[in-house]
Amino acid sequence: MARYRESACKLCRREGMKLFLKGDRCYTDKCAFERRGYPPGQHGQRRTKLTEYAIRLREKQKVKRIYGVLEKQFRRYFEKAERMKGVTGENLLRLLESRLDNVVYRLGFADSRNEARQLVSHGHFLLNGRKVDIPSILVKPGDVIELREKSRKNLKINASLEVVSRRGIPSWLELRKEEYKGIVKDYPKREEITIPIQEQLIVELYSK
Ligand code: SF4
Repeated sequence: MARYRESACKLCRREGMKLFLKGDRCYTDKCAFERRGYPPGQHGQRRTKLTEYAIRLREKQKVKRIYGVLEKQFRRYFEKAERMKGVTGENLLRLLESRLDNVVYRLGFADSRNEARQLVSHGHFLLNGRKVDIPSILVKPGDVIELREKSRKNLKINASLEVVSRRGIPSWLELRKEEYKGIVKDYPKREEITIPIQEQLIVELYSK
């Protein structure tokens, strides 16, 4: 499975914001962005004025990096979002938010989307009672995500579930912690996707 090989913290520094790619570490003073909040590289501290194109490009890169999606796949989400009814930018975020790996992260089974992706691909979860190992599957209202019986003693997953309250669980999801189960109650609404992104800029970028 293709994925970013670059240091996760460099991505935050490049985008000029915390993308929360490293779980617990992101909330501590070890966070590289807190210590060096400027772009990586020799000229990182230089002031540069971004062009209109660069501003739109950076917005797209932020979203791709937050959800850990590469260009080709991201483009496919965009094309799907365009074909859907409603506002393309919002549709795009809704699609990304509905990915199974994101839902596993949002429910608190993992500290980061990257970790969630790994857990899903290693077959730790059931989706509506069936084993799944495809992180990009899109969930829909009524779907039930459940940690498999044999994975319930996993210390890392239990530790993540203990601290999920720090992030909060969005209202379109319900966690039944004692049953190691999550339920998709609804499609995510734009106001529930709290990442600071101007999705309209991505639409403008691809519409050129
Ligand atoms: Fe980004 Fe800080 Fe987390 Fe590194 S530790 S991924 S810089 S938020």
